[in-house]
Amino acid sequence: MRALILSDIHANLEALRAVLDRAAGQWDVLWNLGDTVGYGASPNEVLDIIRPLDGLAVRGNHDRVCSGISSAANFNPAARTAALWTLDQLNADHLLWLRTLPQGPIVPQAAERGRGESQVALAHGSPLNEDHYILNMRDAWVPLLQMASAITFVGHTHVQGGFRQSGHEWHELRPHYKGRREHETWAAEVTQGTRQIINPGSVGQPRDHDWRAAFAIYDSEACTVTYHRVPYDVAQAQKRILAAGLPERLAERLREGR
Ligand code: ZN
Repeated sequence: MRALILSDIHANLEALRAVLDRAAGQWDVLWNLGDTVGYGASPNEVLDIIRPLDGLAVRGNHDRVCSGISSAANFNPAARTAALWTLDQLNADHLLWLRTLPQGPIVPQAAERGRGESQVALAHGSPLNEDHYILNMRDAWVPLLQMASAITFVGHTHVQGGFRQSGHEWHELRPHYKGRREHETWAAEVTQGTRQIINPGSVGQPRDHDWRAAFAIYDSEACTVTYHRVPYDVAQAQKRILAAGLPERLAERLREGR
């Protein structure tokens, strides 16, 4: 069983299209780790594409605020402006879908997990608290020790990579790529007996200094996670943000990847 793992699409239509084109034919189920909307200028268009793919999804903090179930009080001004704009744009059906997304961690049903994999969970932020960021080993330490699953896929930081613990050994996973122009992949083994937090990175607003859209494919039988970075039409995504009257900074940061 191969799961396409997407997170933090953030209403970036161009990035989502590039990711789905690149991943075509390489996955059986879709796991969406949240923040499907917010920041970007194409919330309805992105949901028009994602929802029929019929994957599993958890809610992100932007999904909550953009659908009006949490306040924007804790957001920075650009995030708040974009969230209120999104709430105004979303059609009623998409709004309802966002409002009823489950809070992570969720555990895929046996048929969706694949053979041999009994302990996988999906969350937006930490498996212990959906709003907590896992940016470094210090953040990962307690969740790795306390989480109920062997592997938890998380998003929220917009940084591709992961953290792994086996007995007294602790490792940070950070994909290594050669450049910033072409599509590239980086594969990691999911060793039995280790506990792991895996972040596929952000489709629509990467913050790890690589502007390319990020995603991952988990193969439960081969026991691998393959990280991907794929170029997309960033100029068009920027153009849409500016045309929508959203803050300029939200367009700029896409090119910078931060
Ligand atoms: Zn996000």
